[in-house]
Amino acid sequence: MTKLSAPYFTNEDAAREYLEKLRWPHGTVCPHCGTVGKAYATKRPGKYRCAEKECRKDFTVKVGTVFEDSKIPLHKWLLAAYLLCSSKKGMSSHQLHRTLEITYKSAWFMTHRIREAMKTGTFSPMGGPGQIVEADETEITPSRKTWKATRAKRGDNMRFVALVERGGSVRSRVIDERGMGQVRAAVRHNLAPGTILHTDSAQGYKGLMPIGQHEAVNHSKQFARDSNNGKVYTNSAEGYFSLFKRGLVGTYQHIGEQHLSRYLAEFDFRMNHRVKLGFDDMARTDKALLGIEGKRLTYRRINQAQAV
Ligand SMILES: [Zn+2]
Repeated sequence: MTKLSAPYFTNEDAAREYLEKLRWPHGTVCPHCGTVGKAYATKRPGKYRCAEKECRKDFTVKVGTVFEDSKIPLHKWLLAAYLLCSSKKGMSSHQLHRTLEITYKSAWFMTHRIREAMKTGTFSPMGGPGQIVEADETEITPSRKTWKATRAKRGDNMRFVALVERGGSVRSRVIDERGMGQVRAAVRHNLAPGTILHTDSAQGYKGLMPIGQHEAVNHSKQFARDSNNGKVYTNSAEGYFSLFKRGLVGTYQHIGEQHLSRYLAEFDFRMNHRVKLGFDDMARTDKALLGIEGKRLTYRRINQAQAV
């Protein structure tokens, strides 16, 4: 049996049971009053009634998640999350539309919701005393159509900055203004005290860090150099940029500026839950599924368009 024919990817009830185990490791959680492990199963599979005297309300595991108002069966949501989490360069809405046999519109909706779920809400600082974080920025040329719609007046490309812990996590941020102000802000807001910053020799990085905590390499002269703070290079950040750009070319041909942050969240998410850091495809999928809940991700708030 291949992974893709697992029951929770092919059967609605199995998918629901899978999600119940994942979301409720200590028993049912009533979404109305928060009571844990005190609910009766009703005759309808997956429907529970809160046993708390003051509450007594019905619920399912979907309440409060993006799945609640969706007509797409749960096992297709799980499979979509898995496919998006397990392919290195992502999966386009077109591919998903064909693979899951759902409309393109539904597939588009799902991929963007899953990407939202991949944005982690709270961030701990990156780096730490003596640890190296690389920072670098890059540009993307939008498709002609997108360019016309959004960028023609300004005439510049989409830009983003990536902060990459050497051997650790990645954090990318869209830069939507000229200059280095947002890049500097990203570095300031995300690095833990004592972190060593490695960059190219761009002026914008100067004076950002306390003395002795910034090393720059001049790329017009060399790719890397030795220093007291380890080998100075930005290869990890550049490697990440090229992975992202290959993903764009191969998978997401038309990326709109308004969606760039979601695509970055997707690529960051996969990097931050990669095999080397202890996550296999399914563990990564579980993480994404757990992100599909909470107020920040309510269906109505993200989606001003129609239900699918
Ligand atoms: Zn309750």
